[in-house]
Amino acid sequence: MDGAPALSASVLLLNRLYMAVRVVSARRALTLLYRELAEVVACDDGQYLSYDFDGWVEVSQAKRRFEPEQHDWIRTVRFQIAVPKIIRMLVYEKVPATTVKLNRRNLFARDQNRCQYCGRRRPTTELSLDHVIPRSQGGTNAWDNIVCACVRCNVKKGGRTPEQAHMKLISLPKRPRRSPVLTIKLSDSRYASWKQFLDFAYWNVELK
Ligand SMILES: [Zn+2]
Repeated sequence: MDGAPALSASVLLLNRLYMAVRVVSARRALTLLYRELAEVVACDDGQYLSYDFDGWVEVSQAKRRFEPEQHDWIRTVRFQIAVPKIIRMLVYEKVPATTVKLNRRNLFARDQNRCQYCGRRRPTTELSLDHVIPRSQGGTNAWDNIVCACVRCNVKKGGRTPEQAHMKLISLPKRPRRSPVLTIKLSDSRYASWKQFLDFAYWNVELK
């Protein structure tokens, strides 16, 4: 197969109950599809349709003709296949995680790589994590006590609270409602069709 960047495109994986489980690479998605462990869920004019591998190959040919710019493409020897946006497991019943993991990647994503003291955006390598109330003063390892800070601000603050250091946070740190990494993806129009599946309430409200 050709098209290395397309193979790393993101695909939303749903469980059998149409609940978002996680994001997988195009390579993984196509493997699941090919092995008949998953089906494509495609949104067309507000309608959700499902396709198996052969069906999706066929639909891809039409998409290739009429809306090539709306998809990432993977070229095989015989045909081009669109990277699906969403696939649904046919066999897997894992219930999605309801809490967002507190880790470096999610903290940087929540703060959008912005130093929470001076407000400047920095690449991940130039950012550190700062305990707002330092550990030495009883601060905890929690969403509301850890923020991104540039090296300069982190050094300036030292082992002090923002008040003691006369520094101000640009926003109050909070636990995010959904994975901040997903939130960033959702701002990309290519992944607009994910939104409905990530909105938990959509699937849990009682229909009257
Ligand atoms: Zn800073």
